Amino acid sequence: MNVEILSIGTELLVGSILDTNARFLCQKLAENAINVFYRTTVGDNIERIVKAFEEASERADILITSGGLGPTEDDVTVRALGRFLQEPLVLHKPTYRFIRERLKERRYSMTRLIARQCYLPRSARVMPNKRGTAPALLCEYRRGGCQKWLLVLPGPPRELEPLFTQTALPLLIRCARIKKEHFMIRSVKIAGAAEVDIARKVPHLLKMKPPITVGIYATPGEVELKIMAKTTSHREAKKKVSHIERDIRSRLKKLVYGTDSDTLSSVVGELLKNLGATLSAAESCTGGLLSSVVTQTPGSSRYFLGSIVSYSNHIKTRELGISPALIKKHGAVSDSVASQMAESIRRMFGSDYGIGITGIAGPGGGTTSKPVGLVYIALSGRQGVVCERWQFFGSRQEIRSRAVSTALNRLRILLLDAT
Ligand code: ATP
Repeated sequence: MNVEILSIGTELLVGSILDTNARFLCQKLAENAINVFYRTTVGDNIERIVKAFEEASERADILITSGGLGPTEDDVTVRALGRFLQEPLVLHKPTYRFIRERLKERRYSMTRLIARQCYLPRSARVMPNKRGTAPALLCEYRRGGCQKWLLVLPGPPRELEPLFTQTALPLLIRCARIKKEHFMIRSVKIAGAAEVDIARKVPHLLKMKPPITVGIYATPGEVELKIMAKTTSHREAKKKVSHIERDIRSRLKKLVYGTDSDTLSSVVGELLKNLGATLSAAESCTGGLLSSVVTQTPGSSRYFLGSIVSYSNHIKTRELGISPALIKKHGAVSDSVASQMAESIRRMFGSDYGIGITGIAGPGGGTTSKPVGLVYIALSGRQGVVCERWQFFGSRQEIRSRAVSTALNRLRILLLDAT
C-alpha cells in the first residue's frame, strides 16, 4: 500500500503559508510504517484538482488531501471529488444537524454557503469534525481493477491533526486492511565533528537498505544520524534501533551528546544540575544567543545565573573590567580578551563556570589576520581558563549558531571530564 498526499490551497502555491499538514501526515504515516511515495500541491481550481486526483490514482493506492472544504466560493475540493467519483452530491443529514447544533452553540444560524458543506458524495464515509464544521471523508473507488482509497481532510491544522490521528487514520487502516507494521525513528545527536568526518566513521551504516536505514543530516554545529527501522513488532524495532545506536556510540564515543529530543542546551543543563554547578556568560558576537539557547531549557534558572552582552569595547571595559590596554594590544577578538571575559563573568556572578565569546560574525569587519568567522571561545572553571580559536564559515546567523553550539559542546566535554 502506498500513499500520496495532495495539499490543496492557492495560499500554499504563492508561499503565504507553509505546508505543515503534509509534514504532519508524513510523520504520522511513517510512524505507522505506511509508505508515502509522492507529495503534490494544487491551487483552489476544480479542473486542476480533478486532474490531480486522476494522476494520483494512477500511482497511489491511497490519496490523502487537505484543504478546500470550507464554506467559501473557492473551497471546491468536495465538488472536485464528486466529479472525480462521478457521483452527485447529496444532502448528508447527520452533517447538517451536526453543523446546525454547532452554529446554535455559537449563536450563528445556518447560511446557504455553510449548508453547502453538507452536500457530500453518497458513498463517502463521513467523519464529523469536532473542531470545525467541514467533516472529513473517506471514499472507496476502483481504478485499473484495483481497490483505491481517497481520504479528504480539512485544511486548518488544529482540525486536521486530531481528526486524522483519532478517527481518520484508524478507519483507513481498518477499511483498507493496511498491514500492521511498526516504524521507529531514533536520532543520535552529535556535536564536535563535521558531517564528512562522521560519515567516514560509519560508512557501513549509511549503506544499509530497508527495512533498516541510517541517514545523516547536518545543521550549524551539529550532526544527526537518524536510524529508521520498520518491523512487525514494536519490540523488534526497538531492539534493532538500540543495536545500531550502540554501534554508533562505540565508534563516536564522546561526540554523541544525546538522542531524540535532547539538545546541547538540555544535556549541558543536566550535567550542571548533576554536578550542582552554575554557569554565567559574557557574550560579544553572539549578542545573547548563547543565553537564549541555554534558557530555552525549562528549569535552567537552577544553574544559569545570567550573562552580560558586552558588544562594545566600552562595555567590555566598564562592565567586565577588561583593560583598554589589553584590548588595544591584542584586539577585541583575541584569546586574551575572550579568556578575560570568561574569568570576569565567573568572578562577578560567583558561578562555577564562565563562558566568554568574542568573534567576527560578518559579513563585514574581517581582515586577513582576523577573517569573518574567527571566534574565540573561552571556558573558565575552578581549574583555570582555556580558550580556543575557531574559524567558522557561513552566513552571519550560521557563524553565530556555530559559535553557540561549539561553546556549549566544549562546556559539555569539560563537564563530562569533571563528572
Ligand atoms: P475551512 O473550513 O476553515 O475553510 P478548509 O478545509 O477549507 O478549512 P482551507 O480553506 O484550504 O481549508 O484552509 C483554511 C486554513 O487552514 C488556511 O488559511 C491555512 O491557515 C490552513 N491551512 C490550509 N492548508 C494548510 C496546510 N497544508 N498546512 C498548514 N496550514 C494549512
